[in-house]
Amino acid sequence: MSFLTVEGLTATYGSSQALFGVDLTMAEGEVTALMGRNGMGKTTTVKAICRMIRSEGKLTLDDVSLHDLPSYKVARRGVGLVPEGRRCFAGLTVRENLTAAARPGAWTLQTVCALFPRLGERENQRAASLSGGEQQMLAIGRALMTNPRLLILDEATEGLAPIIREEIWAAIRKLKAETGVAILLIDKSVKELSSVSDKAVIVEKGRSVWSGSIAELTPEISEKYVGV
Ligand code: ATP
Repeated sequence: MSFLTVEGLTATYGSSQALFGVDLTMAEGEVTALMGRNGMGKTTTVKAICRMIRSEGKLTLDDVSLHDLPSYKVARRGVGLVPEGRRCFAGLTVRENLTAAARPGAWTLQTVCALFPRLGERENQRAASLSGGEQQMLAIGRALMTNPRLLILDEATEGLAPIIREEIWAAIRKLKAETGVAILLIDKSVKELSSVSDKAVIVEKGRSVWSGSIAELTPEISEKYVGV
């Protein structure tokens, strides 16, 4: 049984087509980098997986079609999305943000705060008063509190100071080493993506144009499709 299968995925925003055929498969516990230049369809692909936009093509989790499910049921089936722009409830405290998302499993307030000690230190602070990096940690913590089997991180290190970015990459490496969660990563740093991912899928103009193991992702391929 495959875990996540995306095949020939197409999606439109109104009359404008954004995806023309994206293929992506993931096994449980696997870390996959979804790569491509700006505007090529990475965020649209994850929005389609999470059923935040309508799409067509094959889209299954555990061989169950996600097309038939509303987004909250996709989340209940184990897909945790950390969307672009570190969304959390600004008026709620760190603890309230985390507990509001909680579903049973290994991830609890304690384990999330062990992964991100800054969150534990700021448990009673409102999210609005956190730094951008801390808000991003909170957004990841909220997704972990749902105890996902697939964690999707869309530009989780975007716009953050290098030291905070490093903390987030360290947390991602820890998730990979110590838990069985599958992770789909979108990020600008090919270097960091290459260090943590098992494989990569590259999208260009709404189509997947390359996929393979991270060892097969040569500098020439990165240069050609990602411009790095
Ligand atoms: P970035 O790294 O810049 O976020 P991306 O690879 O994630 O890029 P998408 O955000 O998926 O790209 O965008 C794919 C295409 O869909 C682009 O042409 C974009 O302009 C278009 N698009 C994205 N969101 C919308 C929207 N809400 N309405 C209309 N078009 C959109």
